[in-house]
Amino acid sequence: MHFLFKLPGVRTYIDPHTYEDPNQAVHEFAKEIEASCITIERVIGAGEFGEVCSGRLKLPGKRELPVAIKTLKVGYTEKQRRDFLGEASIMGQFDHPNIIHLEGVVTKSKPVMIVTEYMENGSLDTFLKKNDGQFTVIQLVGMLRGIAAGMKYLSDMGYVHRDLAARNILINSNLVCKVSDFGLSRVLEDDAEAAYTTRGGKIPIRWTAPEAIAFRKFTSASDVWSYGIVMWEVVSYGERPYWEMTNQDVIKAVEEGYRLPSPMDCPAALYQLMLDCWQKDRNSRPKFEEIVNMLDKLIRNPSSLKTLVNASSRVSSLLAEHGSLGSGAYRSVGEWLEAIKMGRYTEIFMENGYSSMDAVAQVTLE
Ligand code: AMP
Repeated sequence: MHFLFKLPGVRTYIDPHTYEDPNQAVHEFAKEIEASCITIERVIGAGEFGEVCSGRLKLPGKRELPVAIKTLKVGYTEKQRRDFLGEASIMGQFDHPNIIHLEGVVTKSKPVMIVTEYMENGSLDTFLKKNDGQFTVIQLVGMLRGIAAGMKYLSDMGYVHRDLAARNILINSNLVCKVSDFGLSRVLEDDAEAAYTTRGGKIPIRWTAPEAIAFRKFTSASDVWSYGIVMWEVVSYGERPYWEMTNQDVIKAVEEGYRLPSPMDCPAALYQLMLDCWQKDRNSRPKFEEIVNMLDKLIRNPSSLKTLVNASSRVSSLLAEHGSLGSGAYRSVGEWLEAIKMGRYTEIFMENGYSSMDAVAQVTLE
């Protein structure tokens, strides 16, 4: 019988689609805000349904708050309005410091709006690219810890994100990271990274676990795979996973057991955690709770982050990935690395004494 009762304190996510009337869903989970309480200041981004602006929210009896305001552009269809507000119906069910907080919605006047807390530093991928190399390892691990805590909360609620990627994380002025971009089908419609698979699903290939690509098995364990990719993006300051490889090549390489090499200057413990998230067998991947605990341990004991993935193992894994030196005769290590699209590693090769093709050939022979 106890299966029929919910555990105290554990709420589960309700799919807004289970409501016959989606307008009822949004009002169940989101507060209606009077448009007169909102002041729009400037445009900060473009969403699928319209502009994203920053501004202020002044509710009666509360202090004024900086907010982000998503608007639904004029001339929308009923389905677009439903999908747009669907994100608010989902977000409104969550209450966690690492999940973007919904202030409310405006549906009784036009334009229709979704109002959320304001995240001063915007999306994490752009922020890291702009601040390449500027953070301590502890700061990076702090960001990752926040994202993992948000994901643990979502997985406890029974919500599978399906599009976890640095571009869908927002970061505030205190460097607190929060998971955002909630939706049902729309999340992937909206994501320029999502590509159609042979089976017709639209999937952000580089971030997605093989079983989710192959047979649409999206679970919290496939979110853990994506989390490993986010770890890699964070430690490499917003580098594109698998660089310029095509989606088809990524699918094939991952299927064959290839995994992203360690980012530069990456603590060995973090790279090991990434590899754990990328286990083929989804049941062998760590749970978000274990990831949070592991990152907490690393933060409490910063010396555990001092051991970096060593450069020579990075070099040999690059060589293993690329097999032989190829048939072409390369005049320099730089030229060869450029030819195999690994030019960015030239400096590491030089620093580690692989300055001539002879030296490199020696390593491949070993
Ligand atoms: P989205 O449609 O949610 O992907 O939002 C588009 C862009 O608007 C994002 O990439 C961010 O740069 C920006 N943005 C969205 N929500 C917020 C927010 N709460 N705070 C600050 N910027 C935001």
